[in-house]
Amino acid sequence: MSAVLQVENLTTFYTTLRGPVRAAENVTFNVGKGEALGLVGESGCGKTTVALSILKLLPSNGKIVRGKILFEGKDIVKIKDKEFRQEIRWKGISIVFQGAMNALNPVFKVGDQVSEAIKIHEPRMKKEEINERVAKLFELVGLDPGRADNYPHEFSGGMRQRALIAMSLACNPALLISDEPCTALDVIVASQVLKLLREIKEKLNLGMILISHDLSIVAETCEKMGIMYAGMLAEYGNVMDTFKKPLHPYTQGLISAFPSIKGERTRMVSIPGIPPDLLNPPTGCRFHPRCKYAMDICIKKEPSWWNVEKGRYVRCWLYEKG
Ligand code: SF4
Repeated sequence: MSAVLQVENLTTFYTTLRGPVRAAENVTFNVGKGEALGLVGESGCGKTTVALSILKLLPSNGKIVRGKILFEGKDIVKIKDKEFRQEIRWKGISIVFQGAMNALNPVFKVGDQVSEAIKIHEPRMKKEEINERVAKLFELVGLDPGRADNYPHEFSGGMRQRALIAMSLACNPALLISDEPCTALDVIVASQVLKLLREIKEKLNLGMILISHDLSIVAETCEKMGIMYAGMLAEYGNVMDTFKKPLHPYTQGLISAFPSIKGERTRMVSIPGIPPDLLNPPTGCRFHPRCKYAMDICIKKEPSWWNVEKGRYVRCWLYEKG
């Protein structure tokens, strides 16, 4: 499977008056065509920072300080903002932002908001062609094209999320980032939205990054997953292998804290402690204050990114070779 996106040692900091916030550090993964990667972790672990870095949408105090982001083989970190805006954002990589209920502008018709990206990125396209594309996008996401003239308040939450997905696909991107796509949706609508994302990914052979704090969403939708903790990837690999045999103590803790509807009833175990402040993260392994396996070396030295088996990586001293 050819990689549409390769992220290598991505490191992004935010400058604050109290010092740099180390929001994402040495993040490495890739996404193939027609493949979905789930990025999972607690709030503030750096998932959204990774997405904003890929899209060059970081706030003014955010900066990529190290690493490469190769989109279709080209390092987009080095691309000038103007070129990125014209050639990559929306046409190559697009995003479905979180919060379907308020991501649409309430005073513009939904169809006009979907067509705006097409008008900006393909200025030579005629009005009739744009309307035709919008109608096809509506059909693709399961909306009646006749509803293009409606305002957002005339749409339900699920319809608004579908409209946002249509908008993200307006310029035929090769990579779609979906940030918490099921926030504020009830379980039935959330399940329909996930099914739609899966279908679209397969139909259009899209690469996809799905950001979520919910392991079940990733298990249902993605082929690969990366578990983030305190700005770093703790573990990365195939979804099934990770669920069956989680390697990192943090992943093990997350999975044990997750209820199962099959098998014997077991007591759920929560992870003690709280995530660290990224202004001043712990020395060595960032998980050591919460880890029941912590050793002396974990406090002193940051673990490397071990390739434990084919396609599976973990950042933990328990897997040190030899
Ligand atoms: Fe726990 Fe040490 Fe592994 Fe960190 S490196 S997860 S502290 S065993």
